Amino acid sequence: MPETKLESVVVLGAGIAGLCTALALAPTGRSITLLERDTPPPEGDAEAVFDGWRRRGATQLRHSHAFLARLRKLIATEHPALLAALREAGARELAFADGLPPSVKAKYVAIPEDEEMAIIISRRTTLEMVIRRHVEASPNVTIRSGVFVSGLVSDREAAGVLTVRGFQLQDGETVFGDLVIDAGGRGSPMADWLAEAGATAPETQQDCEILYYTRFYELLAGQDEPPRGPHAPNGDLGYLKFGVFPADNGTFSLTMAVPEVEGELRVAIVRPDIFGRICASLPGVAPWTDPARALPVSKVYAMGDLKSRWREMAPEGKPVALNVFCVGDSLVRTNPLYGRGCSFAAIEAHALRDVLAESADPVARAQAYSARTREVLEPFYDDMRGQDRAAGRRAANGLDPDYQPPWRARLMRRFIEDGVAIAVRQDPELFRAAMRAFHMLEPPRAWLGKPATLAKVLAAMARGRKANAHLYPEKSGPDRLAMFAALGLAAGADLARLKAAA
Ligand SMILES: Cc1cc2nc3c(=O)[nH]c(=O)nc-3n(C[C@H](O)[C@H](O)[C@H](O)COP(=O)(O)OP(=O)(O)OC[C@H]3O[C@@H](n4cnc5c(N)ncnc54)[C@H](O)[C@@H]3O)c2cc1C
Repeated sequence: MPETKLESVVVLGAGIAGLCTALALAPTGRSITLLERDTPPPEGDAEAVFDGWRRRGATQLRHSHAFLARLRKLIATEHPALLAALREAGARELAFADGLPPSVKAKYVAIPEDEEMAIIISRRTTLEMVIRRHVEASPNVTIRSGVFVSGLVSDREAAGVLTVRGFQLQDGETVFGDLVIDAGGRGSPMADWLAEAGATAPETQQDCEILYYTRFYELLAGQDEPPRGPHAPNGDLGYLKFGVFPADNGTFSLTMAVPEVEGELRVAIVRPDIFGRICASLPGVAPWTDPARALPVSKVYAMGDLKSRWREMAPEGKPVALNVFCVGDSLVRTNPLYGRGCSFAAIEAHALRDVLAESADPVARAQAYSARTREVLEPFYDDMRGQDRAAGRRAANGLDPDYQPPWRARLMRRFIEDGVAIAVRQDPELFRAAMRAFHMLEPPRAWLGKPATLAKVLAAMARGRKANAHLYPEKSGPDRLAMFAALGLAAGADLARLKAAA
């Protein structure tokens, strides 16, 4: 149904989801006002913004961010001027061919679809600064910074569904909108406000059971990023996951994710000396953080309370409230390890644009937005939660050096390590399929269920470990006992604590 009038849009939050909402809706001509508690980025380039932007409302700003191919594709196809502005600001793109492991590279033949597998490489501060300046240049977008939204304006006809009309600001002002968007991030108070008004949005949530630790580095003058060697710059040691995130303008960051059960390591790792010693002990990371190549330019930032959460705004097709839409973390939170949050936010914002264009009926819009986001994003969300549960179990079992996994778990591990991983590492087609799923260009598991995949996996297993020896990755770091001994940490303390608490 065609729209009959240009609606006004008021958005809580000018983080990634608020900015993506403005990006998606600005070309529709609607007048869009973003209300943001934090101050705007300082004038100047990416360095000035990284050094000087205070963002108490988005504390993850100074953690490593990966921007998946799905997000880059959306920007490249729908907002090419934004992609140009990102390049101008120093953000880089890494083509699929440039990120191939050596075992795949030798046999790789490019196909046209590989072009959409490029990713954006940038600090989050740089990406956010550029999107913000880009949307602010639209005459119908206004970002009001330094305003704190403290409540909701809504009404309800007798026995009807709650209709949201706007926001209440802390200073008493009311800002109305025909459409009210919640892009207030992981801590958005929207659900509480709705509940107070008698409209409850059900949600499911699951702890990620990890904490994030990130430090930023700058390459020294005349130094380049190290060439890709036999050791990958990312890995999973069970008690520690780690990754180097190349970024813009000669910077990169290093993130370590520590399972919640690893209390001793969590306390120690925020110390710059310990963080540095861990880096030096990881063969894929050490060439990056070598003081002859790069120097740290930040403290070790820590972040906890990481959860995945899905808030349902139209359970069983019945809208909780009308004219209100959640975009970004206020709708779905994901484990940062998968690098999907910003892609989710951008996909949701553009789905909202499409839904608004298809119908002017508030009920139909709420239903369609819920159905569309579920259809596109839920497979990735469910897959992630399953993987997180398995990782949590592995980390807890890993505290006990005598732990013996049951046969079924051993079998599954063999299938993955000696089958899937080996087949992917030697077959460009499988590698491409796995990466397309990782980057959200295909459903997460479809490639694994194909008979051709299974045949290749079984063939890899049948060849045996000896014949496949060259395809196993080099050990990415010391095992837990060796690392704890090197750092002077008590390896048994967490298990003892866990047993005492049980
Ligand atoms: C440690 C960590 C690492 C991550 N790494 C990645 C990654 O690699 N790749 C990726 O894609 N995603 C990553 N994410 C997820 C990503 O950061 C989020 O998904 C994304 O920021 C969501 O955008 P948002 O706009 O919903 O929330 P935010 O970006 O958090 O923005 C919310 C905005 O709302 C404002 N706000 C909140 N309340 C109010 C109020 N009452 N009044 C006014 N303003 C308000 C805040 O100030 C903030 O600006 C990571 C997350 C974390 C925690």
